[in-house]
Amino acid sequence: MHKDVSEILFTEEQIHDRVAEIGAAITEDFREKAGDDGIILISVLRGAAIFMADLAREIKIPCEMDYMAISSYGNGVKSSGVVRILKDLSSHIEGRHVVIAEDILDSGLTLTYLLKNLASRNPASLTVATLLRKKTKVQADVDCAYVGFECPDQFIVGYGLDYAERYRNLPYIGVLKPEVYE
Ligand code: 5GP
Ligand code: MG
Ligand code: MG
Repeated sequence: MHKDVSEILFTEEQIHDRVAEIGAAITEDFREKAGDDGIILISVLRGAAIFMADLAREIKIPCEMDYMAISSYGNGVKSSGVVRILKDLSSHIEGRHVVIAEDILDSGLTLTYLLKNLASRNPASLTVATLLRKKTKVQADVDCAYVGFECPDQFIVGYGLDYAERYRNLPYIGVLKPEVYE
């Protein structure tokens, strides 16, 4: 285990199995509905890129991939809910079935903004798959059709999730020791 990690919450194997289940569920839920066009899987860079790459390979219907980069103002540990689009989608999503792959739902402010923004482009449907949902006292009510794992209200790293751009390459998901960011 990395010296800056206090606890492993989900192992590489647990993540793999859960991502496979979510991919199978998406495959079933969209097979008929999305038809030959399939779905567009969107990930929010950079945290969700690893999740999306693994998830895409578990989806057995046509599946395009596109990316958005957003920044929420503020420091590295808490999101402010004020979101700026740094890179927009390359594809048009009007009339398409869109699945957003997100790394972690914390305050929910980022996803709330994103859902509103994407809904205004009139997709056929808009669904959220989040790998992690934090058990916080205050969380915006975001409808997530697929949730990988519930996790404690601590700062999480690994499997795409960073602190100051580090730890994304850890194959497991763990808790970062508070002394690293305090
Ligand atoms: P929200 O707007 O839901 O508070 O936060 C969403 C974004 O903040 C996530 O997509 C993620 O990029 C970042 N974030 C929230 N909690 C954590 C965490 O525990 N660890 C890391 N690495 N990023 C987090
Ligand atoms: Mg994110
Ligand atoms: Mg980050």
